[in-house]
Amino acid sequence: MTHCLNGACHCGAIGLELTLPRPPEEEVVGACQCSFCRKHNARTVSDPRAQARLVVHEPAELQRYRFGLEASEVVLCRRCGVYVAMLMTEAGKAWSTINIDALDERARFTRPAEPRDFSGEALEGRRERRIARWTPTKLVGWPKE
Ligand SMILES: [Zn+2]
Repeated sequence: MTHCLNGACHCGAIGLELTLPRPPEEEVVGACQCSFCRKHNARTVSDPRAQARLVVHEPAELQRYRFGLEASEVVLCRRCGVYVAMLMTEAGKAWSTINIDALDERARFTRPAEPRDFSGEALEGRRERRIARWTPTKLVGWPKE
């Protein structure tokens, strides 16, 4: 049985749907130790058996931010400032790790956050790990590159 969760940034310009293969209470919660996630104290969820949709309702408010190795980008709302997801794209496909606290049912993620430090990783290993562990993601309403 799948579990469908909805979310959005604070103002609603960027919507989010996450379909999990198990209840949120059983999902592993990550606390990425990268410098960006630490400044947000972000808790994230990624499950390769899940499906995510990032729905941009107001393209003018979509902010994409890259740093470090630039293997991925942060998805933020320009208007309300909420950090929605970390996104990686390759060959027309996308994967993401979702900021749990952008989901309506954030309180259901009850497992303690596990610190994760990938700072010593090279670019190639990083992309492969993300494709294996992050959630396949559909980008809906995104501006054309
Ligand atoms: Zn917003």
